[in-house]
Amino acid sequence: MSSGIVVGINWGDEGKGRMVDLLTDHYDYVIRYQGGGNAGHTVVNEYGKFALHLLPSGIFRSNVVNILGNGVALDPENLVAEIETLRAKGITITPDNLKISDRASILLPWHKDLDALEEARLKDKKYGSTKQGIAPFYSDKYQKKTVLAGEIFHPHLLKRHMRDLMEWKNLIIKNVYGGKVYTERDLDLWTAEYFERIKPFITDTAAVLREASRSGKRLLFEAQLGALRDIDFGIYPYTTSSNTIAAYAPCGSGLTDMRPDNIIGVVKAYSTCVGEGPFVCEMSGEEADKLREAGAEYGAKTGRPRRVGAMDIVATAYGVRVQGATDIALTKLDVLSYMDRIPVCTAYETPEGITREFPFPALLDESKPVIEYLEGWKSDISGVRRWEDLPKAARDYVTFIEKAIGCPIRYVSVGPERESIIFKD
Ligand code: GDP
Repeated sequence: MSSGIVVGINWGDEGKGRMVDLLTDHYDYVIRYQGGGNAGHTVVNEYGKFALHLLPSGIFRSNVVNILGNGVALDPENLVAEIETLRAKGITITPDNLKISDRASILLPWHKDLDALEEARLKDKKYGSTKQGIAPFYSDKYQKKTVLAGEIFHPHLLKRHMRDLMEWKNLIIKNVYGGKVYTERDLDLWTAEYFERIKPFITDTAAVLREASRSGKRLLFEAQLGALRDIDFGIYPYTTSSNTIAAYAPCGSGLTDMRPDNIIGVVKAYSTCVGEGPFVCEMSGEEADKLREAGAEYGAKTGRPRRVGAMDIVATAYGVRVQGATDIALTKLDVLSYMDRIPVCTAYETPEGITREFPFPALLDESKPVIEYLEGWKSDISGVRRWEDLPKAARDYVTFIEKAIGCPIRYVSVGPERESIIFKD
């Protein structure tokens, strides 16, 4: 068996969807194991340009089985909309190539309401939620107050369970936020609209994966967001509400004894960050505007302008360690082609002195970047396909990062298209 995990090393949006789309050529199964419809994995291929939110990025390959594992936030509204969008573009989605874990918890309609109500209450102290209901969903999952997808096969039990949850939730919506409560009719309409449509895909995916693994199939696990958004090891509380790290793949997929052969960490050639929270190497003014424009850095899900900054070696080396990455894919190198000299953050200046270790989250606000400059290459590299054909300054930049983060860079991406890739030994 061969198994790989594609993970983000930084704050997300590193180009994981693009890498999974490329790598799925070598895999039989692609598995999402955490997160939900707040992801925005952009894939550009022969069918067009897509921002995948919940569906695994292997969905475009006809011979790949795609799995949504027990660890995901199963949002029926998002999923049904996404399936319809892709089908309209000619992509085949059937229970043969999409399987949903019967142990995945379902994101219920009030999760999105509560997300919006809480962000509104927080006003300028908000966390920058994508308002997809992810935080309320995972909170409820750990309070054991969600329903499992497999309950759809037992309607009489499901109905009672949903009613009990609604009664409890209405107390919070009404008494804490003064929001609009749910009625039994609301729930019936919602379940009638969505549950029958996702039901054909629901199965015991852990058993499917065990059998796939036993028969030597190749499995690729796809994470959402990046190491710095991990609930345990990220920049808490500006994290997501699930574990974005590779170590969670066995648990969130149901293949609990899995030992990956490769952990492919995706790193962008510069830094970006969506939403709130400390971002030490952040650029401002004209310098930031130019980089944002060059990299088209606007959120795939929200359209929000992303915050941009220099490549951050301190955060990236930390991300590599937390992910346990064995290989790195460096994306968007082509975006830096306009720069005369390229800034790189090689250390942080903190009240305790200069450090190369990523600080405890609460101390990040007091950290400032130490910037060094590397020579730019000032030429279009988007058509380059071989490492030796890259300008020397571009190779030096990649090699500098590779040494500094202590992990081999095996892929260099120079464009969003599937073929815009350089394989480096
Ligand atoms: P993900 O969530 O990690 O999959 O990343 P996003 O999809 O949010 O962001 C990556 C963006 O960069 C997408 O618009 C991709 O099409 C684009 N992209 C990926 N790799 C490259 C690259 O090497 N060069 C350029 N110019 N764009 C890229």
